[in-house]
Amino acid sequence: MIPRLLYANDSGRLFEDPHFLMAVFDGSRVRAPREDEIIELPEGSDVFFLPGRRPFAINPVTMGPEVLVHHQAASAFISPAYLRTLLPAYDRDEDAPVLPLYAYAPVGSLDGRFYTTAIRIDPSERQNPVRFDIRRIRKMVRRMKRRLPDNSLVRHLEHCALVYKCRAAQNFFLRREEAPLPTSPSCNARCIGCLSEQKDSGFSASHERILSVPSAQDIAQVALTHFEHVENPVASFGQGCEGEPLLQVDRLVEAVRLIRAQTLRGTININTNASRPGAVEKLCKAGLDSMRMTMNCADKQLFDKYFRGTDYSIENVRKSGKILKDYGGFLSVNLLVFPGLTDREDQVDMLIDFLGDTGVDMVQWRNLNLDPEVYMDALGRENFGGGIGIAEAVRRVKDALPTLKFGYFNPYVGSRS
Ligand code: SF4
Repeated sequence: MIPRLLYANDSGRLFEDPHFLMAVFDGSRVRAPREDEIIELPEGSDVFFLPGRRPFAINPVTMGPEVLVHHQAASAFISPAYLRTLLPAYDRDEDAPVLPLYAYAPVGSLDGRFYTTAIRIDPSERQNPVRFDIRRIRKMVRRMKRRLPDNSLVRHLEHCALVYKCRAAQNFFLRREEAPLPTSPSCNARCIGCLSEQKDSGFSASHERILSVPSAQDIAQVALTHFEHVENPVASFGQGCEGEPLLQVDRLVEAVRLIRAQTLRGTININTNASRPGAVEKLCKAGLDSMRMTMNCADKQLFDKYFRGTDYSIENVRKSGKILKDYGGFLSVNLLVFPGLTDREDQVDMLIDFLGDTGVDMVQWRNLNLDPEVYMDALGRENFGGGIGIAEAVRRVKDALPTLKFGYFNPYVGSRS
């Protein structure tokens, strides 16, 4: 059964339409969702109204799309571990504001329940919002600050956990899963959807960038504290509140050496734009265990249009990945998925080639957090549409590379040391 249209009035209040059905956009066409594409909106997801955007709806008689000009569109922001497979369908007003940095997914409603189009890509509950009790987090922050009173990174993570509600920072204080190790105030890319720096883009960054590089001792202390208390712990450089960690390679090498001098427990990971193969080699020699490289696609032209690297492109990423593999590390790709681009056959083929050639162990299929029309305008609308569907794209990659792991989060892979 196809859910009804969910729309908003001018003050943002949401309504289920008694007549019209939910519509979706696949990158080139507005249509009704197929029943196999629809799931109930996962726990912990949010529903937004989209200012200055008129919803498309499906006429249940003609099954054709119509724009409802007196309503505002609505959208879902699906909780982590789920991959949206389609986009919300709306018609934007000339003077509509640019949307903030979220991954917009379709939303419909039926008998008071919300529905969307997505697939679960990771079984982990690591960032399920219902597992995060803010009173307990505050208590654990106080306890950690008493234990590490002079640690500047702990003070930074306190801000991340309590102000940005960053799940990685909260998990550090709650002593579970993956701890963040942000270090870099600068970056050599200018990603259109950068979470930590936005200039003249019409929308703001969702995090302020860390202002100074923490000492190797402070970095190591946070990682060691986490490794001491957590089962299958991961500690990761490269977070939403910083630039590119590879630009601080000497400090990171010093910190990794300090950690490995004291323990072989835990996985030391780096989330990175993988722009500096030489820096990756230095970190592998120091004891780095795993690396996650961020890409929006394997198409050089479209990669460059998104990352706008100041001194690198996709060849650097491929080389960095091969170096990590040569040292026996675990290699992931953080794929910024966008329905209408990621699932185009040419893009799927290029992705399979890249993953196979580089020896990637895991693809983390993640929703790109960006106003869909900002992305399509930046990369060129001619590059979108005609896709095979995100679920089919995921299947094809698995068929082509059967040993490849899929997920949403950095896994614990032990230590190489
Ligand atoms: S690599 Fe990261 S920090 Fe640098 S511009 Fe891109 S998103 Fe921002």
